[in-house]
Amino acid sequence: MRKPIVAGNWKMNGTQESIVPLLDRVIAGVDTSVNAQVIVCSPYIYIPLIAGKIADTAVEFGSQNISEFESGAYTGEISAQMLKDFDCEYVIIGHSERRHVFGETDQNIADKYKKAQEHGIIPILCVGELLEEREADKTAEVVIRQIDAILSTSGVESLQNAIIAYEPVWAIGTGKTATPEQAEEVHKLIRETIAKQNGTIASSLRILYGGSVKPSNAAELFAMEDIDGGLIGGASLESEDFLAICKATN
Ligand code: PEP
Repeated sequence: MRKPIVAGNWKMNGTQESIVPLLDRVIAGVDTSVNAQVIVCSPYIYIPLIAGKIADTAVEFGSQNISEFESGAYTGEISAQMLKDFDCEYVIIGHSERRHVFGETDQNIADKYKKAQEHGIIPILCVGELLEEREADKTAEVVIRQIDAILSTSGVESLQNAIIAYEPVWAIGTGKTATPEQAEEVHKLIRETIAKQNGTIASSLRILYGGSVKPSNAAELFAMEDIDGGLIGGASLESEDFLAICKATN
């Protein structure tokens, strides 16, 4: 049995004034009625505040990015060591906004993934195709290429300590959700691709779906065999919606 995960990606939203009550409500709502492991991924600057509030609660936290470098002259970057300094356990790597707005390549992403794991931080690796790639029937090719970059840099064993999120780029923040069948097809492909190298790791790997997940569509997505929870953007900024999505894994 794979324990489901619901991870919130706050992106570059909020201030202390909004984040503190949001987090308080999420902490209060994640009680024994929630079966999922719940993670919130905040902007770097709020990590110390979140680390303090979340200690000894059922909610975990992560970062939205990390540097691929160890330390040194990399102005504006945040290292794995710095994240670990605040007990950060997870990091989103390869989010489509990092790939397509900031130009991160498959190799940058593979290097960040490796660096996070070297410091004991669990990567939430995002993969997914653009609309034009889906329309050109290239979804499988793109997703396998993105996963192959990780396999060739860190090996299949690295996936024992990682989470994958399939996020079709055309569904992120657009209100368009992949149907449960469309999402399941890619999740199954990801699991089968990894199983070719290691069946045990593939069957225990948590693969989340992300892309306009809402309380109204979460349960049908999470009911699919290879969908083990969600990576949630917009809806993670509303505690009621986020908690309803967490409960949809039950
Ligand atoms: C995301 O940012 O990873 C995401 C899935 O966003 P949204 O839920 O808003 O589509």
